[in-house]
Amino acid sequence: MKVISYKSELLEEVSILKKNQKVTGFVPTMGALHQGHISLIKCCNKECDYTIVSIFVNPTQFNDPNDYKKYPRILDTDLELLKKVKVDILFTPTLEEMYPEQDNRDFDLGELDKVMEGAHRPGHFRGVCLIVSKLFEMVQPTKAYFGEKDFQQVAVIKHLTRLMNYPVEIIPCPIIRENDGLAMSSRNMLLTKDHRQNAPLIAKTLFEATEKSKTQSVQETKDWVVRTINDNPFLQVEYFEIVDETSLKAISNWDNTSNKRGCIAVFAGNVRLIDNIRFN
Ligand code: AMP
Repeated sequence: MKVISYKSELLEEVSILKKNQKVTGFVPTMGALHQGHISLIKCCNKECDYTIVSIFVNPTQFNDPNDYKKYPRILDTDLELLKKVKVDILFTPTLEEMYPEQDNRDFDLGELDKVMEGAHRPGHFRGVCLIVSKLFEMVQPTKAYFGEKDFQQVAVIKHLTRLMNYPVEIIPCPIIRENDGLAMSSRNMLLTKDHRQNAPLIAKTLFEATEKSKTQSVQETKDWVVRTINDNPFLQVEYFEIVDETSLKAISNWDNTSNKRGCIAVFAGNVRLIDNIRFN
């Protein structure tokens, strides 16, 4: 695994790959890696000749400066974990490499950034689009791998790819969970013992909601999810929406669409966790 921090060095490597017509797969991350990230890398390994991973905690996607400050940065541990899988290049740019000057670009994401994460984290998806567009232009991957854990992000990235005409295939990968059901997240390590013990209720409630949905209306199911989680003193729901998987528009009837997703954000103390589940 080559560890590269400079854009110029990365561009040299990429130009060789292009010349040799290699199928390049890309897995962008913010580090504090776990098995969710590793699953994306393994998926990439299967489908591509060459795997490039990036680790960069992107300031422009944090709407809360405190969240950016406390985001875990554990590069040494990440390097150890990455030794166990095939990674050809690890790109770990500095802030100056990614943002040599202020980038004021905006992206028309239609309605996609008006709901859920977009509504509760103003500017978040603009920051995501800024960094992903910069990384795509540098790495020039054939395929890029994103986790469905960030379900809305996948929809936004697909839109961005079309908007900017990037010749990149976006591959969504399933959510990887801890044994107790909690969706893996770099933020889980910030949870207190009490919050960690109670956090699996989020996934448990989502799974149960898919059962409830067989006999309850959309509104009843939504109310039940919010009530069940908020009844736990360690958890506070920020939003729970059941949306069409493509448009991300909230549905009011189960037969509004055949592809339905329940998406949730929950505060466990001051740590914000997200999760989602497919409804049939
Ligand atoms: P992050 O480092 O949190 O920005 O995540 C980097 C990539 O890993 C994103 O595409 C995430 O959606 C994905 N990811 C994070 N957690 C999980 C998980 N539990 N399962 C699958 N993918 C994940």
